[in-house]
Amino acid sequence: MGVCPLARTPLLRDNFSGPLDPGARPEVLTCTSWGLPIIWDGTFDPDVAQQEAVQRNLTVGLTVFAVGRYLEKYLERFLETAEQHFMVGQRVVYYVFTERPAAVPRVPLGPGRRLRVERVARERRWQDVSMARMRALQAALGGRLGREARFVLCMDVDQHFSGAFGPEALAESVAQLHAWHYRWPRRLQPFERDARSAAALGPGEGDFYYHAAVFGGSVAALRRLTAHCARGLRRDRARGLEARWHDESHLNKFFWLHKPAKLLSPEFCWSPEIGRRAEIRRPRLLWAPKEYALLRS
Ligand code: UDP
Ligand code: MN
Repeated sequence: MGVCPLARTPLLRDNFSGPLDPGARPEVLTCTSWGLPIIWDGTFDPDVAQQEAVQRNLTVGLTVFAVGRYLEKYLERFLETAEQHFMVGQRVVYYVFTERPAAVPRVPLGPGRRLRVERVARERRWQDVSMARMRALQAALGGRLGREARFVLCMDVDQHFSGAFGPEALAESVAQLHAWHYRWPRRLQPFERDARSAAALGPGEGDFYYHAAVFGGSVAALRRLTAHCARGLRRDRARGLEARWHDESHLNKFFWLHKPAKLLSPEFCWSPEIGRRAEIRRPRLLWAPKEYALLRS
Protein backbone atom coordinates (compact mmCIF):
# COMPACT_ATOMS: atom_id res chain seq x y z
CA MET A 1 0.00 0.00 0.00
CA GLY A 2 3.10 2.11 0.62
CA VAL A 3 3.43 5.54 -0.91
CA CYS A 4 0.86 8.23 -1.23
CA PRO A 5 1.80 10.24 -4.29
CA LEU A 6 -0.03 13.46 -3.49
CA ALA A 7 0.62 13.55 0.23
CA ARG A 8 3.43 16.06 -0.21
CA THR A 9 2.06 18.10 -3.08
CA PRO A 10 0.26 21.43 -2.89
CA LEU A 11 -3.00 19.57 -3.53
CA LEU A 12 -2.95 18.76 0.12
CA ARG A 13 -2.88 22.35 1.25
CA ASP A 14 -2.98 22.96 4.96
CA ASN A 15 -1.80 19.51 5.78
CA PHE A 16 -0.43 19.91 9.34
CA SER A 17 0.58 16.26 9.49
CA GLY A 18 4.28 16.89 9.18
CA PRO A 19 6.04 14.70 6.62
CA LEU A 20 3.74 11.73 6.19
CA ASP A 21 5.12 8.23 6.28
CA PRO A 22 2.38 6.03 4.82
CA GLY A 23 4.81 3.09 4.78
CA ALA A 24 4.92 3.08 8.57
CA ARG A 25 1.66 1.12 8.57
CA PRO A 26 2.05 -1.46 5.81
CA GLU A 27 -0.87 -3.54 7.13
CA VAL A 28 -3.52 -0.90 6.44
CA LEU A 29 -4.61 1.32 3.58
CA THR A 30 -2.86 4.67 4.06
CA CYS A 31 -3.72 6.31 0.77
CA THR A 32 -6.94 6.81 -1.18
CA SER A 33 -7.33 5.96 -4.87
CA TRP A 34 -7.29 9.73 -5.50
CA GLY A 35 -3.85 9.97 -3.92
CA LEU A 36 -4.55 11.62 -0.59
CA PRO A 37 -3.67 10.30 2.84
CA ILE A 38 -5.57 8.17 5.30
CA ILE A 39 -4.08 9.14 8.63
CA TRP A 40 -3.19 6.20 10.87
CA ASP A 41 -1.25 6.31 14.10
CA GLY A 42 2.46 6.25 13.23
CA THR A 43 2.09 7.79 9.75
CA PHE A 44 2.34 11.38 10.98
CA ASP A 45 4.46 13.25 13.47
CA PRO A 46 2.20 14.86 16.07
CA ASP A 47 4.96 17.24 17.23
CA VAL A 48 5.58 18.60 13.74
CA ALA A 49 1.84 18.92 13.21
CA GLN A 50 1.62 20.86 16.45
CA GLN A 51 4.47 23.21 15.54
CA GLU A 52 3.04 23.91 12.10
CA ALA A 53 -0.33 24.76 13.58
CA VAL A 54 1.13 26.96 16.32
CA GLN A 55 3.17 28.85 13.72
CA ARG A 56 0.01 29.48 11.73
CA ASN A 57 -1.73 30.72 14.87
CA LEU A 58 -4.89 28.86 13.99
CA THR A 59 -8.20 28.93 15.74
CA VAL A 60 -9.93 25.58 15.48
CA GLY A 61 -13.69 25.28 15.96
CA LEU A 62 -15.37 22.23 17.46
CA THR A 63 -19.13 22.01 17.05
CA VAL A 64 -21.36 19.66 18.97
CA PHE A 65 -25.12 19.34 19.36
CA ALA A 66 -26.66 18.44 22.69
CA VAL A 67 -30.42 18.48 22.41
CA GLY A 68 -32.89 16.86 24.80
CA ARG A 69 -31.45 14.14 27.04
CA TYR A 70 -28.17 14.06 25.16
CA LEU A 71 -27.15 17.19 27.05
CA GLU A 72 -27.17 15.72 30.58
CA LYS A 73 -26.01 12.34 29.37
CA TYR A 74 -22.95 13.22 27.27
CA LEU A 75 -21.96 16.86 27.03
CA GLU A 76 -19.91 17.27 30.19
CA ARG A 77 -17.66 14.30 29.54
CA PHE A 78 -17.30 15.24 25.88
CA LEU A 79 -16.07 18.73 26.83
CA GLU A 80 -13.91 17.63 29.75
CA THR A 81 -12.07 15.08 27.65
CA ALA A 82 -11.80 17.56 24.77
CA GLU A 83 -9.94 19.85 27.17
CA GLN A 84 -7.48 17.01 27.80
CA HIS A 85 -7.03 15.82 24.23
CA PHE A 86 -8.48 18.07 21.51
CA MET A 87 -6.02 20.47 19.84
CA VAL A 88 -4.05 20.98 23.04
CA GLY A 89 -1.82 24.05 22.64
CA GLN A 90 -4.00 25.59 19.90
CA ARG A 91 -6.68 28.23 20.10
CA VAL A 92 -10.04 26.47 20.26
CA VAL A 93 -13.60 27.67 20.17
CA TYR A 94 -16.33 25.21 21.13
CA TYR A 95 -19.76 25.74 19.70
CA VAL A 96 -22.47 23.93 21.63
CA PHE A 97 -25.88 23.84 19.97
CA THR A 98 -28.77 23.22 22.32
CA GLU A 99 -32.33 24.25 23.07
CA ARG A 100 -31.38 24.86 26.75
CA PRO A 101 -28.35 27.16 26.94
CA ALA A 102 -28.69 27.53 30.73
CA ALA A 103 -28.17 23.78 31.20
CA VAL A 104 -24.77 23.69 29.48
CA PRO A 105 -22.22 22.52 32.10
CA ARG A 106 -19.52 25.01 33.07
CA VAL A 107 -16.44 23.02 32.22
CA PRO A 108 -13.21 24.84 33.16
CA LEU A 109 -11.34 25.77 29.96
CA GLY A 110 -7.62 26.11 29.38
CA PRO A 111 -6.00 29.33 28.12
CA GLY A 112 -6.94 30.30 24.58
CA ARG A 113 -10.06 28.16 24.70
CA ARG A 114 -13.62 29.47 24.66
CA LEU A 115 -17.11 28.06 24.61
CA ARG A 116 -20.08 29.58 22.84
CA VAL A 117 -23.64 28.39 22.98
CA GLU A 118 -26.04 28.60 20.05
CA ARG A 119 -29.73 28.05 20.59
CA VAL A 120 -31.52 25.60 18.32
CA ALA A 121 -35.10 24.39 18.29
CA ARG A 122 -35.81 20.97 19.78
CA GLU A 123 -37.12 18.73 17.04
CA ARG A 124 -39.51 15.98 18.09
CA ARG A 125 -37.90 12.98 16.35
CA TRP A 126 -34.24 12.14 16.98
CA GLN A 127 -33.75 11.77 13.24
CA ASP A 128 -34.90 15.37 12.83
CA VAL A 129 -32.48 16.58 15.52
CA SER A 130 -29.69 14.83 13.69
CA MET A 131 -30.69 16.17 10.27
CA ALA A 132 -31.32 19.72 11.49
CA ARG A 133 -27.62 19.95 12.29
CA MET A 134 -26.64 20.62 8.69
CA ARG A 135 -28.85 23.69 8.44
CA ALA A 136 -27.76 25.04 11.84
CA LEU A 137 -24.09 24.49 11.02
CA GLN A 138 -24.48 26.20 7.68
CA ALA A 139 -25.94 29.24 9.43
CA ALA A 140 -23.21 29.29 12.09
CA LEU A 141 -20.44 28.93 9.51
CA GLY A 142 -21.86 31.93 7.69
CA GLY A 143 -21.84 33.88 10.98
CA ARG A 144 -19.60 34.18 14.01
CA LEU A 145 -18.18 30.66 13.90
CA GLY A 146 -17.06 31.24 10.33
CA ARG A 147 -15.31 34.46 11.32
CA GLU A 148 -13.67 33.06 14.44
CA ALA A 149 -12.32 29.74 13.22
CA ARG A 150 -10.06 28.79 10.33
CA PHE A 151 -10.84 25.05 10.53
CA VAL A 152 -13.80 23.38 12.13
CA LEU A 153 -14.50 19.83 13.25
CA CYS A 154 -18.15 18.81 13.63
CA MET A 155 -18.85 15.96 16.02
CA ASP A 156 -21.53 13.85 17.66
CA VAL A 157 -21.79 14.30 21.42
CA ASP A 158 -22.27 10.62 22.32
CA GLN A 159 -18.53 9.92 22.51
CA HIS A 160 -15.52 11.07 24.51
CA PHE A 161 -11.86 11.73 23.75
CA SER A 162 -9.41 9.05 24.85
CA GLY A 163 -6.21 10.15 23.08
CA ALA A 164 -4.55 13.13 21.42
CA PHE A 165 -6.69 14.60 18.64
CA GLY A 166 -4.44 17.26 17.20
CA PRO A 167 -3.83 19.32 14.06
CA GLU A 168 -2.83 16.21 12.09
CA ALA A 169 -6.58 15.77 11.69
CA LEU A 170 -6.93 19.11 9.89
CA ALA A 171 -7.13 19.62 6.13
CA GLU A 172 -9.23 21.46 3.57
CA SER A 173 -11.86 18.72 4.02
CA VAL A 174 -11.77 15.77 6.38
CA ALA A 175 -13.85 12.60 6.53
CA GLN A 176 -13.94 9.82 9.11
CA LEU A 177 -13.83 6.12 8.17
CA HIS A 178 -16.73 4.39 9.92
CA ALA A 179 -15.47 1.98 12.58
CA TRP A 180 -18.06 -0.69 11.82
CA HIS A 181 -17.65 -0.55 8.06
CA TYR A 182 -14.05 0.07 7.07
CA ARG A 183 -13.32 -3.61 6.48
CA TRP A 184 -16.39 -4.28 4.36
CA PRO A 185 -16.41 -4.41 0.54
CA ARG A 186 -18.01 -1.43 -1.13
CA ARG A 187 -21.11 -3.29 -2.31
CA LEU A 188 -22.04 -4.00 1.33
CA GLN A 189 -21.68 -0.40 2.51
CA PRO A 190 -24.95 1.15 3.67
CA PHE A 191 -25.06 3.97 1.12
CA GLU A 192 -28.46 5.26 0.10
CA ARG A 193 -29.35 3.35 -3.08
CA ASP A 194 -32.89 4.61 -3.70
CA ALA A 195 -32.43 6.67 -6.85
CA ARG A 196 -35.24 9.03 -5.83
CA SER A 197 -33.21 10.37 -2.90
CA ALA A 198 -30.79 13.26 -3.31
CA ALA A 199 -28.32 11.14 -1.32
CA ALA A 200 -28.46 8.22 -3.76
CA LEU A 201 -25.29 6.62 -5.05
CA GLY A 202 -25.56 4.44 -8.15
CA PRO A 203 -24.42 0.84 -8.29
CA GLY A 204 -20.64 0.74 -8.09
CA GLU A 205 -20.47 4.28 -6.68
CA GLY A 206 -19.05 5.16 -3.27
CA ASP A 207 -15.44 5.16 -2.11
CA PHE A 208 -15.61 4.53 1.63
CA TYR A 209 -18.46 4.70 4.10
CA TYR A 210 -17.91 7.82 6.18
CA HIS A 211 -19.19 8.40 9.69
CA ALA A 212 -21.12 11.60 10.35
CA ALA A 213 -19.90 11.60 13.98
CA VAL A 214 -16.74 13.40 12.77
CA PHE A 215 -16.25 15.58 9.73
CA GLY A 216 -14.45 18.82 9.19
CA GLY A 217 -12.43 21.17 7.06
CA SER A 218 -11.92 24.80 6.28
CA VAL A 219 -14.83 27.13 6.83
CA ALA A 220 -15.31 27.54 3.08
CA ALA A 221 -15.33 23.79 2.43
CA LEU A 222 -17.75 23.18 5.29
CA ARG A 223 -20.09 25.87 4.03
CA ARG A 224 -20.27 24.00 0.73
CA LEU A 225 -20.72 20.66 2.50
CA THR A 226 -23.46 21.79 4.85
CA ALA A 227 -25.28 23.68 2.09
CA HIS A 228 -25.21 20.57 -0.11
CA CYS A 229 -26.50 18.31 2.65
CA ALA A 230 -29.15 20.74 3.89
CA ARG A 231 -30.41 21.12 0.31
CA GLY A 232 -30.56 17.35 -0.20
CA LEU A 233 -32.37 16.84 3.09
CA ARG A 234 -34.89 19.55 2.15
CA ARG A 235 -35.44 18.08 -1.28
CA ASP A 236 -36.02 14.59 0.09
CA ARG A 237 -38.43 15.87 2.70
CA ALA A 238 -40.44 17.72 0.05
CA ARG A 239 -40.80 14.38 -1.75
CA GLY A 240 -41.72 12.47 1.39
CA LEU A 241 -38.37 10.66 1.49
CA GLU A 242 -35.81 10.12 4.23
CA ALA A 243 -32.43 8.67 3.33
CA ARG A 244 -31.39 5.45 5.04
CA TRP A 245 -28.93 7.06 7.45
CA HIS A 246 -30.36 10.57 7.40
CA ASP A 247 -27.75 13.36 7.31
CA GLU A 248 -24.97 10.73 7.13
CA SER A 249 -26.31 9.50 3.76
CA HIS A 250 -26.14 13.04 2.36
CA LEU A 251 -22.66 13.50 3.79
CA ASN A 252 -21.57 10.34 2.00
CA LYS A 253 -23.04 11.62 -1.25
CA PHE A 254 -21.18 14.92 -0.84
CA PHE A 255 -17.84 13.18 -0.25
CA TRP A 256 -18.43 10.95 -3.27
CA LEU A 257 -18.85 14.05 -5.43
CA HIS A 258 -16.17 16.15 -3.67
CA LYS A 259 -13.39 13.89 -2.48
CA PRO A 260 -12.11 14.66 1.00
CA ALA A 261 -8.52 15.90 1.27
CA LYS A 262 -7.77 13.70 4.26
CA LEU A 263 -9.34 10.61 5.80
CA LEU A 264 -9.10 9.73 9.46
CA SER A 265 -8.55 6.07 10.25
CA PRO A 266 -11.09 4.35 12.51
CA GLU A 267 -8.59 4.94 15.33
CA PHE A 268 -9.91 8.51 15.42
CA CYS A 269 -13.47 7.45 16.24
CA TRP A 270 -13.64 3.93 17.53
CA SER A 271 -16.44 1.82 18.96
CA PRO A 272 -15.24 -0.30 21.92
CA GLU A 273 -18.11 -2.68 21.22
CA ILE A 274 -16.22 -3.94 18.17
CA GLY A 275 -13.57 -5.37 20.48
CA ARG A 276 -9.82 -5.43 20.04
CA ARG A 277 -8.29 -5.21 16.60
CA ALA A 278 -4.57 -5.27 15.93
CA GLU A 279 -4.66 -2.25 13.59
CA ILE A 280 -6.42 -0.03 16.12
CA ARG A 281 -3.46 1.19 18.12
CA ARG A 282 -4.55 4.26 20.00
CA PRO A 283 -8.20 5.29 19.79
CA ARG A 284 -8.72 9.06 19.93
CA LEU A 285 -12.48 9.12 20.41
CA LEU A 286 -14.60 6.33 21.83
CA TRP A 287 -18.29 5.95 21.16
CA ALA A 288 -20.57 5.73 24.16
CA PRO A 289 -22.74 2.62 24.35
CA LYS A 290 -25.98 3.15 22.45
CA GLU A 291 -28.73 3.63 25.01
CA TYR A 292 -31.46 4.41 22.57
CA ALA A 293 -34.35 3.21 24.72
CA LEU A 294 -33.39 5.81 27.30
CA LEU A 295 -32.50 8.65 24.97
CA ARG A 296 -34.88 8.42 22.09
CA SER A 297 -38.14 7.51 23.78
N1 UDP B 1 -28.61 14.59 18.96
C1 UDP B 1 -29.05 15.27 20.09
N2 UDP B 1 -30.28 14.97 20.58
C2 UDP B 1 -31.08 14.02 20.04
C3 UDP B 1 -30.63 13.32 18.90
C4 UDP B 1 -29.37 13.63 18.39
O1 UDP B 1 -28.35 16.12 20.62
O2 UDP B 1 -32.19 13.79 20.54
C5 UDP B 1 -27.30 14.96 18.39
C6 UDP B 1 -26.14 14.45 19.24
O3 UDP B 1 -25.03 15.30 19.05
C7 UDP B 1 -25.89 13.09 18.64
C8 UDP B 1 -26.09 13.39 17.15
O4 UDP B 1 -27.16 14.34 17.11
O5 UDP B 1 -24.61 12.59 18.96
C9 UDP B 1 -26.44 12.18 16.27
O6 UDP B 1 -27.40 11.38 16.87
P1 UDP B 1 -27.00 9.93 17.44
O7 UDP B 1 -25.66 10.02 18.07
O8 UDP B 1 -28.12 9.44 18.31
O9 UDP B 1 -26.94 9.08 16.10
P2 UDP B 1 -26.06 7.78 15.81
O10 UDP B 1 -24.65 8.08 16.20
O11 UDP B 1 -26.63 6.67 16.60
O12 UDP B 1 -26.22 7.59 14.34
MN1 MN C 1 -23.68 9.28 17.64
